[in-house]
Amino acid sequence: MTARGNLFIVSAPSGAGKSSLISALLKDKPADKQVSVSHTTRQPRPGEVNGQHYHYVTQDEFKQLIADDAFFEWAEVFGNYYGTSRVTIEQTLANGIDVFLDIDWQGAQQVKKIMPEAIGIFILPPSRTELENRLTGRGQDNQEVIASRMAQAASEMSHYNEYDFILVNDDFDKAQADLLAIIRSQRLTSASQIHTQNDMIKDLLAD
Ligand code: 5GP
Repeated sequence: MTARGNLFIVSAPSGAGKSSLISALLKDKPADKQVSVSHTTRQPRPGEVNGQHYHYVTQDEFKQLIADDAFFEWAEVFGNYYGTSRVTIEQTLANGIDVFLDIDWQGAQQVKKIMPEAIGIFILPPSRTELENRLTGRGQDNQEVIASRMAQAASEMSHYNEYDFILVNDDFDKAQADLLAIIRSQRLTSASQIHTQNDMIKDLLAD
């Protein structure tokens, strides 16, 4: 018997390495893990592909989707709208596949209300200096832009304690191993094992 998949919420400030960690997780296209592709009103960045990174929509289209109750959660993040579509999540979880939501703290709060069993993971950079280095990495932005990014990061990070797990991304390989450990542990809870090992347990307990 297949257990229902787990729903993971992954949040982090920009510069913590969240996208890289999620990409690494899905690199070999594992059959038991899927990342949810959100809708957004922000413009695609160079290299981003519609339908792969996001579904890019206009403000009017986004508002219509809200009116149609198409979102599991949605939020305004730094002037743009972002939303998780409801359709695929339920079906994917029912098929025993773990779903990853790369969303901000506002979305995380909404998901926890609807689905308290969802597992929240917050990724932190190892230090303020390292975060600043990562945010200024390209060396193309002025002090004002960098200060604004640091303030946004601080605002996101202030919600770290609303999550079930905190992952510090100092060493990438270690952070990746920690993330896999969290995911694996959730498949070993008794609630999950009661489903997956149902036949074996019945057999073991037979008179
Ligand atoms: P970016 O524009 O850099 O891709 O994302 C900005 C922020 O929006 C990130 O913190 C990201 O996690 C968040 N975000 C992306 N998709 C969603 C979504 O569907 N819902 C919510 N609440 N936040 C999202």
